Amino acid sequence: MCGIVAYIGKQQALPLLVNGLKRVEYRGYDSAGVAVLNDSGELESLKKQGKIAVLEEALRNRAAVPGTIGIAHTRWATHGVPNDANAHPHLSCDGGVAVVHNGTIENYQELRELARQQGHTFRSETDTEVLAHLLEGFLAQGDDLVTAVQRMHAVVRGAYGIAVITSKEPNRLVVARHGSPLVLGLADDGYFAASDATAFREHTDKVIYLNDGEMATFDRDGYRILTLKNEEITKCVEKLEWDLAQIAKGGYEHFMLKEITEQPTVLRQTLAGRLTDGEDPRVHLGGSPALEPILARGINRVLITACGTSWHAGLIGKRMLEKLLGLPVTVEYASEFATGHTPVDAQTLTIVISQSGETKDTIEAALRAHAAGSFVWNICNVVGSSLTRVADSGMYTHAGPEIGVASTKAFTAQVVSLALLSLKLAELCGSTRI
Ligand code: GLU
Repeated sequence: MCGIVAYIGKQQALPLLVNGLKRVEYRGYDSAGVAVLNDSGELESLKKQGKIAVLEEALRNRAAVPGTIGIAHTRWATHGVPNDANAHPHLSCDGGVAVVHNGTIENYQELRELARQQGHTFRSETDTEVLAHLLEGFLAQGDDLVTAVQRMHAVVRGAYGIAVITSKEPNRLVVARHGSPLVLGLADDGYFAASDATAFREHTDKVIYLNDGEMATFDRDGYRILTLKNEEITKCVEKLEWDLAQIAKGGYEHFMLKEITEQPTVLRQTLAGRLTDGEDPRVHLGGSPALEPILARGINRVLITACGTSWHAGLIGKRMLEKLLGLPVTVEYASEFATGHTPVDAQTLTIVISQSGETKDTIEAALRAHAAGSFVWNICNVVGSSLTRVADSGMYTHAGPEIGVASTKAFTAQVVSLALLSLKLAELCGSTRI
């Protein structure tokens, strides 16, 4: 799952899109591409295997593409090798629809076969391309782009964040989310959508996070948010708490080095307002609902579930929780937990940990634990991310944006957060082990 950037507004789209792709480059990718609706209302697209620099070079070698609506993508291949043809955007047969997609389409083979029988020709090996052909079919039947995306949703199984443009509606950008993150950016002279707000932070700090099952449709003067079942919804506009300096290298050779040196500041932020010192030390975690009612109903075990670095933080958390609480603590890889062998019930406190809050396996683990009656407490870094919205309550690590791919400051902040949580739980349980 990699990056999406989309723009509609008054500025030239291409430089904004390419710059946005560079901002999400840190996520890793194997190819990159863009599509712009030019000022004559035609779709122009270019995609290249390799670095964004390769795409930029190819763009320099062709005529300028004036246009103020576009979509862009960095791909991390799941279906089909990394090459130019498999890179996104994917176009419909008539070249009138362009789609970028993060995620996987599970029933793409049967949908592809069906589309072939209807006369569609495929140019890539990806699961994604089927979306462009499906949308082309619905538009040909007279649907507008919003309805076409909703009908597409009804036949597709899998996970996606998508951004779509079409020459049939040259003043429209549609994005939809079903399992892969999407955030909208509201700038003064246009609108952005991206898988990660880093892509457009320099243009705005006003964002709307889409939930699964939601979509947005933009024209140049406004936007609407709907469910994929066509219900109109109102969502609040949130303000990003971090600024551009935090996602710049700031003179360091690379991000990881910068983030290692940020750790003293980060830990102060993680601890800020959470400890009262003096005679009677107390931990204040906040979180809504607070932990007290859960403990009142009694817990007899703790389950920590996460992936990768966060899972490693969980292993340290286990030591602290067991020592301070005296309860058994299991640390489970979120992808393993999904298989359903680990016991979890109303007497289990589940702790889910993720830097981004978008780790799919961890989100699924949180949902499963919640469905089993367990109270789910999240420890996340990204404010408003998906995990924070599916968990019952939780705390932010306040580590700021982490760009370096080997996690450093976010990991340290997770460990400190787990220490605070352990102390709080011990305090609430009246543990004498502190
Ligand atoms: N499944 C799609 C592909 O392989 C999208 C991968 C991604 O999220 O980058 O092309």
